[in-house]
Amino acid sequence: MKVHAIQTGTVAVKARQRSGKGPGPLRLAFTLADRVWTDQLPIYAWAIEHPEGVIVVDTGETARVSDSGYFPRWHPYYRLGVREWVEPEEEIGPRLRAIGISPVDVRWVVMTHLHTDHAGGLSHFPNSEILVTRREFENASGTLGKLRGFLPHRWPSWFSPKLIELESAPYGPFPESVRLTDREDVVVVGTAGHTPGHVSVIVEEEGHSILLAGDASYTERLMIEGKADGVSPDLEAARVALERIQQFARQRPVVYLPSHDPDGAQRLENRRSANLPA
Ligand SMILES: [Zn+2]
Repeated sequence: MKVHAIQTGTVAVKARQRSGKGPGPLRLAFTLADRVWTDQLPIYAWAIEHPEGVIVVDTGETARVSDSGYFPRWHPYYRLGVREWVEPEEEIGPRLRAIGISPVDVRWVVMTHLHTDHAGGLSHFPNSEILVTRREFENASGTLGKLRGFLPHRWPSWFSPKLIELESAPYGPFPESVRLTDREDVVVVGTAGHTPGHVSVIVEEEGHSILLAGDASYTERLMIEGKADGVSPDLEAARVALERIQQFARQRPVVYLPSHDPDGAQRLENRRSANLPA
């Protein structure tokens, strides 16, 4: 299967966001107070050319982030915690067209979660079936969603995703999953923690699995080390998700692709699997 890494600009966050510090409730404060920024990290979305139709996982960010007032400045995270750089031609629509995929032909868009750097490109997919877990959609919607750092007022006016409920159908170490394709080679698994409705997408290829991990961790190394980020509202869940991913990657070769790992595209290209200590 052809699987494409689609880079939609870059993001910098606080170092403590990528690798969290401190006990649960204090981690967000430590993150925002951190004076050290990461490098500009890629913002990846993914496109899978599947026989049953093109599947896009996450939509990356929009160039509108450079419009003044696009981000709510009253929100501490946007005031202190994040910077983004996206050119119009780096949005997912033009990026897909550049590799011969028309966004209107995309059958499914699976959202790992609804943070802005994953949902910013939704406007390119008015014809696609967009899948979000009900838990994620409810958590990200409305005033509470805004307080939690989501930008529901920036979603397209037509945005009415298909809300999925994860079934108690174990897939490897993941207790909850939903099979997306009839062939059952693209599977959505629950990896809550970074957000309450966060999912990852597993693509089965001959001899290995590709795990599109959203923000379950920021790099492969942090997954291997089991280090949760500094913004997860549920630290324990985030750690459990990492343990399950580790277990999955011990059972079989897994190409692990979180959304902001500078080495992700290269690993995908070479189908290089994560090397976990036994
Ligand atoms: Zn996120």
